[in-house]
Amino acid sequence: MASKKGNLSINSENMFPIIKKWLYSDHDIFYREVISNACDAITKIRKMDMMGEYTLPDGFKPRVDVVLNDKEKTIKITDNGIGMTAEEVEEYINQVAFSGATDFLNKYKDKANADQIIGHFGLGFYSTFMVSDSVDIDTLSYKSDAASVHWTCDGGSDFEMSDGDKKEVGTTITLHLSEDCLEFCNEYKAREVIEKYCSFMPYEIYLSKENEEGTETIKASEKLDSDTVIEEVHPEKKEGEDKEPELEYKIKRRPQLLNDTHPLWAKTPKDCTDEEYKEFYRKVFRDYKEPLFWIHLNMDYPFNLKGILYFPKINMEFESIEGTIKLYNNQVFIADNIKEVIPEYLMLLKGVIDCPDLPLNVSRSALQNDGFVKKISEYISKKVAEKLAGLCKTDKENYDKYWDDISPFIKYGCLRDDKFCEKMTDYILFKNLDGKYLTTPEALQINKEAEEAAAKEDAVDENGNKVEAEVVDEAKDSATEEKKEEESKEPRTIYYVTDEQQQSQYIKMFKAQKMEAFIMNHNIDVPFMQQLEAKNEGIKFARIDADLTDTFKSKTSKKAAAELEEKEKELSEKIKKALKNDKLTIKLEKLKDKKMSSMLTVSEESRRMAEMMKMYAMNGMSMGDFGNEGQTLILNANHPLVQYVMEHEDGENTNMICEQLYDLARIQNAPLEGEAMTKFIARSNEIMMVLAK
Ligand code: ADP
Repeated sequence: MASKKGNLSINSENMFPIIKKWLYSDHDIFYREVISNACDAITKIRKMDMMGEYTLPDGFKPRVDVVLNDKEKTIKITDNGIGMTAEEVEEYINQVAFSGATDFLNKYKDKANADQIIGHFGLGFYSTFMVSDSVDIDTLSYKSDAASVHWTCDGGSDFEMSDGDKKEVGTTITLHLSEDCLEFCNEYKAREVIEKYCSFMPYEIYLSKENEEGTETIKASEKLDSDTVIEEVHPEKKEGEDKEPELEYKIKRRPQLLNDTHPLWAKTPKDCTDEEYKEFYRKVFRDYKEPLFWIHLNMDYPFNLKGILYFPKINMEFESIEGTIKLYNNQVFIADNIKEVIPEYLMLLKGVIDCPDLPLNVSRSALQNDGFVKKISEYISKKVAEKLAGLCKTDKENYDKYWDDISPFIKYGCLRDDKFCEKMTDYILFKNLDGKYLTTPEALQINKEAEEAAAKEDAVDENGNKVEAEVVDEAKDSATEEKKEEESKEPRTIYYVTDEQQQSQYIKMFKAQKMEAFIMNHNIDVPFMQQLEAKNEGIKFARIDADLTDTFKSKTSKKAAAELEEKEKELSEKIKKALKNDKLTIKLEKLKDKKMSSMLTVSEESRRMAEMMKMYAMNGMSMGDFGNEGQTLILNANHPLVQYVMEHEDGENTNMICEQLYDLARIQNAPLEGEAMTKFIARSNEIMMVLAK
């Protein structure tokens, strides 16, 4: 071929400076582009061989060599792939590639939006000009009559093509680095970048440095890596010695393998050992804490997707959780944490996802609107839910063990993704006060027995005598099938505790009635419970102090109940007056616990509202009057103190007893503050004075 000069078919003279500037933050991707082109070229030649259109030489080992030369300021990337003929260089490099770049330029000329640019991976071969003053291609096609081609371009719009001298089939790309990009031929930098993008590319990638003159010589008898490139040295015989000196080798290059061509995710899960999973985790995430467990995704249908998701151990409750999901396309690293492809809540995990079907030559904003990409995201989410459900069903013991660590991920997932929530609802665990874990259905049913036992108890009349049959219990009154059915549709309540110390009085009461409550003390629990309630008509949550179920009350005859109601009205007025508090709701109940005189309940809605208001208040909003809403003072009609108040309307100590009963109830619920505390102490002293008289 006669040497040929030409003009690249682009319209913009100064395209390269623009590309350089735009892609500044992603400068290093040229390594990925060139090395993945090299791998593609190898895949193609193997295909030719498989199809019988070409015969690979015996002992063919596919490989890519990256050779650095910091003296000459070059990087050479060589593959033994398919190579290109002169016509192909003309077609693929001179025309196609540049037209791709021109498109890119036109499209983004006016909106240098970093997000769009970072996501744009279509620059391919021409990304080399981000770091080079000029680039050469030396290539020899596999075709039998092909001649080798030398191509060079200085980053302007002119190129030069001539006959080359490449002897082996394949391609070498030589980058003549610009002065401000010399870091890329530094061995450590090169290794870092190649490991970032190419750690799992499908063919072996070797990095080496062209040795400076005479740095290292070794004796021929020493062991050498078969990869090491050497030059024989014949030392001169020294005077006076009769033995010929031993042959020596001058080491020219010592290539080092950088990648793992068979990443763990590509293997069948059943062939992978725990140690391999852990090793892979350490290597990829450089995290030396062991992961808790992992999920290996491996699907061919409805699309190709493989990957491993690791659930890391969380050490502290409030440790910020920061995950990384690495996205690959056919073993070529694309980017971390692409939120369009990976469900947001999974970004708290660490993992790798390889999806060869992803359309990557589009900007991120296009990814967002891509239905296919959305399906992938949904599919990953579904698979994760299935795996977790499976673990809960088949290996509950371990699932229990992991729960405290994985629950923030799962709960967050439920908040962000309704479908995930739906799939996980039955496999959420609730930890009871003895540290046992129950699933949602179990937690919903656990108090049924205690409630039924309470319903079966005999009622007592106002004198504490058992009363029979004519009874009371409305449910029993009309226990028709219909009624039962209706009842089973009613939402059931899961009782929870947010602070075991603070709520210990209520816990004691629950335990006495063999009722169970569960610990919900994580920040995420409040919105999580709300989500479960919103999505499931049958589920309600109530804090242990939210109301007083029938379980805690002794049953009474209808007559006794009516009498109680009467007394409640009277007492209520009296106490409101004594406490100078109109707003308080007062209930008179016959509590089973005879030692308990008074207690306080705070309705679930009011409390949640108050908590929300408090959050706003922290942001500077006034809470106004809010705070005591929803409180009910419950007085135990079975307790002598309460009976005393009922019987001594204007007794000497009635007011004091009322105040004390209220404070005792409050103190079980939350600490008294400020003046209330001062008053309580003063009154307690006064009461003891009475005793001392
Ligand atoms: P893309 O890889 O996205 O097609 P590139 O600009 O990177 O775009 O490359 C353009 C074309 O040049 C490739 O499709 C391929 O046909 C050819 N090519 C690039 N590098 C090589 C190589 N190392 N060996 C053989 N052909 C190559």
